[in-house]
Amino acid sequence: MQTLKDTIHRLTVPTPYAVGDVHMYLLVGDQMTLIDAGVQTKEAWDAVRTQLKELGYQPEDISQVVLTHHHPDHMGLVNYFPNVSVVAGHPKLEPWLERDERFFTRYEQFFYHMYEESGVPDKYYGLLKALRKPLKWTAEGTLTHSLTEGQRIPGHEEWMTIETPGHAQSHLSFVRQADGLMIAGDHLLHHISSNPLLEPPYEEGEPRPRPLLQYRHSMQKVLELSIREVYPGHGKAFTDVEPLILKRLKKQEERAEKVRLMFKEGPMNAFEVCQLLFPKHIEAQFGLTMSETIGQLDYLEDTKQLETFMDGKTKYYQLAGDGHE
Ligand SMILES: [Zn+2]
Repeated sequence: MQTLKDTIHRLTVPTPYAVGDVHMYLLVGDQMTLIDAGVQTKEAWDAVRTQLKELGYQPEDISQVVLTHHHPDHMGLVNYFPNVSVVAGHPKLEPWLERDERFFTRYEQFFYHMYEESGVPDKYYGLLKALRKPLKWTAEGTLTHSLTEGQRIPGHEEWMTIETPGHAQSHLSFVRQADGLMIAGDHLLHHISSNPLLEPPYEEGEPRPRPLLQYRHSMQKVLELSIREVYPGHGKAFTDVEPLILKRLKKQEERAEKVRLMFKEGPMNAFEVCQLLFPKHIEAQFGLTMSETIGQLDYLEDTKQLETFMDGKTKYYQLAGDGHE
């Protein structure tokens, strides 16, 4: 095996989210680079400083921050390191980091439209107002470098960027081919399956992304890379990469089959499917459960098992070949 240049340290900080702690990875090589930046809370910042100190470093030593995706628990402390000159991530992370008001408005309109199309009852529309709430835990800053498929992390040429959209449109993973190590953000976690999440298209007028199909594609891409070990954003590092990916893909296919069977009774809209699929969680986790439901419907539509028709503003799904007058 060729000599490896970078040393990697893991820092772990608490978050106010149900997911619990989040990891950041410190690459020490030609640059001192943090992959991800935790969440913007005092507790997280205290934890970072303590752990850096234990390693013999301080916040001033960090020269770059590289972000796996735009979620608040991964980029909260971007601005806390005084000597950072490079903030790198996928171009789709930019409107989030730079708080693009036009994008946020479009984001809200997108969900309004999706709810309407999905047959969501009026009482849920109030949730749209909460879309900006998590922004208090995230950073406002500037993306100085964009990273896309195949590019190397600046100052760490061992590390290649792999686009892994699905959980987030901005999602990147980083692979060191020399020893098969992958820093995977939330793309692949060991203890929980990460959720493909609905997001609007980033270019106005484009069709919306279909996150579950993207997620499957990103998983298949990782399979082809022969990854030896994954350093994830949450939970333990792991080496059983291939069986885990196959398990995640199979589980998704089984859930899709469960959804398909629901259509034996006749056509349904996405909200009706969501109620049947997540009777216990739809109220408390509306956004997540709707994302998951629409993901499964996208998959069944893409694999030609379901077809769609419009009734007024609402989109209905039915078993392919069932017809509708
Ligand atoms: Zn995430």
